[in-house]
Amino acid sequence: IAKSLGNQDVVYFDDTLLARSKRNNDITASFPKALEDNEFLVYYQPKISLKGKNIAGAEALSRWYHNGMIIPPAEYIPVLEQGRDICKLDFYVLDTVCRDIRRWLDTGRKVVRISVNLSRRHLSDMDLLQRIVDIVDKHNVPHEYIEIELTETTTDVEFKDLKRTISGLQKTGIATSVDDFGIGYSSLNLIKELPWNVLKLDKSLLPVNSTDNSDQKVVMFKYLIAMAQEMGLECIAEGVETKEQVQLLTENRCSLAQGFYFDKPLPVEEFENRLIDNYTYEI
Ligand code: C2E
Ligand code: MG
Ligand code: MG
Ligand code: MG
Repeated sequence: IAKSLGNQDVVYFDDTLLARSKRNNDITASFPKALEDNEFLVYYQPKISLKGKNIAGAEALSRWYHNGMIIPPAEYIPVLEQGRDICKLDFYVLDTVCRDIRRWLDTGRKVVRISVNLSRRHLSDMDLLQRIVDIVDKHNVPHEYIEIELTETTTDVEFKDLKRTISGLQKTGIATSVDDFGIGYSSLNLIKELPWNVLKLDKSLLPVNSTDNSDQKVVMFKYLIAMAQEMGLECIAEGVETKEQVQLLTENRCSLAQGFYFDKPLPVEEFENRLIDNYTYEI
């Protein structure tokens, strides 16, 4: 085909597609053993209280340590989400997080709430809530230390699943957050109708600088923070990279921030250094 079109790009494109599909097959094929062999690691990215300048929580993010390399989530999450594998990974991450929290509690460390990402793939499972609670209770971790991050959902069919999950989690005392709010299928209804605890503003919404007040992005960001407050939700900005962004957040009373400006996602040993009472961030 490429020859008849006389176009090198076509060959290149086809090659890439093939390579991609081969890589996807490799990921699916190696996943079960990788999970068993503990090749998945949990990194922790601190969430900072802008008022206290200290650590207020952290997000657990998975990394795949495979053949001596760290494979980022962008490579494997979309592939695992095509099937049920993502559910196994999410429960593995939750289990690891609970084990870590248990250890921190047992060794007298400061403990903060840890959030775990849950794929929307789980939402149709009727036993999802029970499985989450079982894992947390198995490690005897107080529910207040756990938060579940979910991205926005699309259709009405999923809404009743989402409702069951979010309302159910609220009853167990496990916190919930709307992840990546503001991109994809934002529905304000979905925020209003369900008992969420946290609104996580997507990093693409965060203005690059705050000097130009007329910048529409700045205006929008301010109103989103205000809206969250008005609705009684905690508000966190993700992807915070610069001092200007921190200033914008502080001025507009956004309570929490997460991003490279403060810390990258850290391996657990490094993260544990943050779990001391007088650890503060420069803001
Ligand atoms: P997310 O939940 O929105 O997580 C935040 C992502 O932003 C992380 O990417 C984090 O490393 C990155 N990030 C943090 N601070 C900054 C910053 O200042 N600037 C920029 N540019 N990026 C920043 P990561 O770790 O590559 O994860 C990507 C996505 O993969 C996550 O997005 C999450 O949706 C998904 N993910 C990761 N681990 C898991 C998991 O165990 N289960 C599920 N279901 N999804 C996961
Ligand atoms: Mg997240
Ligand atoms: Mg996010
Ligand atoms: Mg995001």
